[in-house]
Amino acid sequence: MRIVTGTISHETNVLSTIKTDLDEFRKRRLYYGDELFDHFEGTKTPAGGIIEGCNQHDYELIPTVFASATPSGTITKEAFDKLIGDILDGIKEAGNIDAAVLHLHGAGVSEEYPDIEGKVLKEVRNLVGNRPLVATFDLHANYTKEMIDNADILIGYDTYPHIDGYERGVEAVNLTKKMLEGKLIPTKGFKQPPMLPALQVQFTGKYPMSRLLEEAHSMEEYEGVETVTVAAGFPWSDIPEAGMSFIVTTNNNQETADSLAQKLYDLAWSIRRDFLVSPTPISEALKHVAASTEGPIVMADIGDNPGGGTPEDGTFVLKALIDEGLTGGVLALIWDPHAVEAASKKGIGNNVKLKLGGHTDNLHGEPIHVEARVKLLSDGKFINKGPMGTGSKSDMGKTAVLEINGNDVIVTTKRLQPLDLQLYRSLGIEPSEKKFIIVKSSVHYRAAHKPIAKEIIELDTPGLTSPRLAGFDFKNIRRPIFPLDFDMLGITELKSLDEP
Ligand SMILES: [Zn+2]
Repeated sequence: MRIVTGTISHETNVLSTIKTDLDEFRKRRLYYGDELFDHFEGTKTPAGGIIEGCNQHDYELIPTVFASATPSGTITKEAFDKLIGDILDGIKEAGNIDAAVLHLHGAGVSEEYPDIEGKVLKEVRNLVGNRPLVATFDLHANYTKEMIDNADILIGYDTYPHIDGYERGVEAVNLTKKMLEGKLIPTKGFKQPPMLPALQVQFTGKYPMSRLLEEAHSMEEYEGVETVTVAAGFPWSDIPEAGMSFIVTTNNNQETADSLAQKLYDLAWSIRRDFLVSPTPISEALKHVAASTEGPIVMADIGDNPGGGTPEDGTFVLKALIDEGLTGGVLALIWDPHAVEAASKKGIGNNVKLKLGGHTDNLHGEPIHVEARVKLLSDGKFINKGPMGTGSKSDMGKTAVLEINGNDVIVTTKRLQPLDLQLYRSLGIEPSEKKFIIVKSSVHYRAAHKPIAKEIIELDTPGLTSPRLAGFDFKNIRRPIFPLDFDMLGITELKSLDEP
């Protein structure tokens, strides 16, 4: 059997001022044809899973394009036209194929299309006709009717931090095989409760998300249920469908698919109030850290998570650290190419005066005037050893470790969410020996940091991924939706919301 694959992956934060052009894809990952095998064969990633699934069944896998950019603003028309063209041309050039297995994200927005995955699936469907079209998605996917109608099977990650991409890739190939053998006619139930959870509370390692996943996994044990997806959604794509979704895929049984999807909807709605979040004020957290004798305490700057499209140059926490006089910690990280250049010019061991961070927009704090000692300079490359994307390459670009008021501050020329401890260790920093660690991340940091953390504190920082969703100027999300149309004092809720 010959299987074609392709990827356009981007989590678009339409409020971000960083425009997503082709260069943003080149900076992260833009691979053609067999380069896919060089980068992903043997890795614990969705593409690694698709490769392995095909190997197991002796299928020939034909890669087209693999394009992934760090989350940022709307994708330019030019970039999307090029990438979708690459996928479609690649499929045409592949000639006789038996199925398509794509790896997509599900929260991509371009200047022309509010739902790029719907567009990709529709165009690929036009090419593959009635042959199987299966795709994997992120847990932050905002599913749309166009996506559901055009793919035979849609499989989302079950985890956040995303540590099951590989397994979902293998699953996608296995279900494709079942279709190719005539043993599966997929029927899908699709339901979307009016719920828009913030990122923190999408963490699948604890209630309430864990409750929904448990239910989904128990449904997957039922006779004739093939796969169940729970998606928490991504608010900042700001499309009508943004938010939570459920997809239940059964073998030729629409009624069961619909009723199980409705069951998940009802369960989610019944526990919606548990999806509210209450992060800790920065000053309160820093006082607690100052008084603690054991470390490291991991503090998450959840408002400035580049994995959700923020600039990662926010300064609120660094400023508070300096003001409070806290020492002995590491901050991962601040994106500031000019600061790295200035530090490189001075060289290791020398002091450099900087206006650090806060350059991109006015939502993440002002630049801070600091005098820093250049501790280390690096090419910023490392290989992930933790549970996320194990074996895959990470790249922070040229990087400087700066000592600022007794703390190590990692400053980079590329944005990268700190989710693997090799980020520190590749720079000669042992994170477990630090008094505290500050990460610009919402949830992904947990996978690698939890085992070394004495404690984890989510900081109530301003920024483009703040859980205070009511503070954003969303224009297109369907309304009413929980918790936007909800009295934040907790006294009353819009009545219409109580009757789904
Ligand atoms: Zn995600």
